[in-house]
Amino acid sequence: MRFRRAAKKKEHQMKAWQYEGDRKPIALNEVPEATAGPGEVVIDVKAAGLCHSDIMYMELGDAVMPFLPMTQGHENAGVISAIGEGVTGWSVGDVVGVCSSGERPPAGMFTHGGFADQLVANAADLARVPEGLDLALAALATDAGMTSHHAIMKTGGATAGMKVGVIGYGGLGQIGTRAAVLAGAEVHVAEVKEDVWPLALAAGVAGVVKDADEWAGQNFDLVVDYAGFDTTAKALAAVRRGGTAVQVGLGKPTFTVPTNAILGKNLLGSLGGSVADIEEVFALLLSKEIEPVYTEIGFDEIGEGLERLKNNQVTGRLVARFGD
Ligand SMILES: [Zn+2]
Repeated sequence: MRFRRAAKKKEHQMKAWQYEGDRKPIALNEVPEATAGPGEVVIDVKAAGLCHSDIMYMELGDAVMPFLPMTQGHENAGVISAIGEGVTGWSVGDVVGVCSSGERPPAGMFTHGGFADQLVANAADLARVPEGLDLALAALATDAGMTSHHAIMKTGGATAGMKVGVIGYGGLGQIGTRAAVLAGAEVHVAEVKEDVWPLALAAGVAGVVKDADEWAGQNFDLVVDYAGFDTTAKALAAVRRGGTAVQVGLGKPTFTVPTNAILGKNLLGSLGGSVADIEEVFALLLSKEIEPVYTEIGFDEIGEGLERLKNNQVTGRLVARFGD
């Protein structure tokens, strides 16, 4: 799959949505075009997801970002338009997603992100987008998809025959649940919003409860907490001796666990993921085994979209489509 280069831009300049500091709203600026250093590629961005982390990054930005202004956007997919020195295995025209928050510091926080015509990425962070996969879905796979897949399949090690609990059937929980179901695990969901229960049941889960405390003593092999609303103790109460609770969600900044609840059990945190996670999620999206809900917006609507996200006026995900 190949795309034309974005037209109509001023020579050597491109547009970028940037955090400028002082808690100012994100601003649309003209910046120099991207160039690829050694080991890097330039990507013409075609789709970029909007994420609550963008808002968190801007809140922390003045204290943490190594330079300002900083282009936001860490869920990106597009087409390689230039290749830096020493890069092998990739060509101009390749369609890729970028792993922006795996082992390397996240784009949008420490390096420029993808709310721009172009993005520079390390070649080691590229995931190959299969022919036929929509780039909005590919962009989503790089963050929510990667994180949820990694937590349940890699950190939690979900496999066939395991009894697995998922706390929180939101954007992450939906993907994690489906990945574990497809792997052959018996998956149970705890979700307070009863209106999404039919979705969970349609995804092939064995049962849904309102509150994870109903699982106490039921000898789960693994519970993954995508909510994090002080639900860790409930996860630990559900797992058997030798079983594992994985914490992913950050609904509340702290949790309380009775000291004896952790004896004989494992409690792990899971952060981000890898290119391999992203490519596995690409395959699940391409085969329509996972169908996330999202809304497309234009590049010029990114600033307004982040405001809507901040004010909790968004259901599902927002993905900006541009550059064609
Ligand atoms: Zn994100």
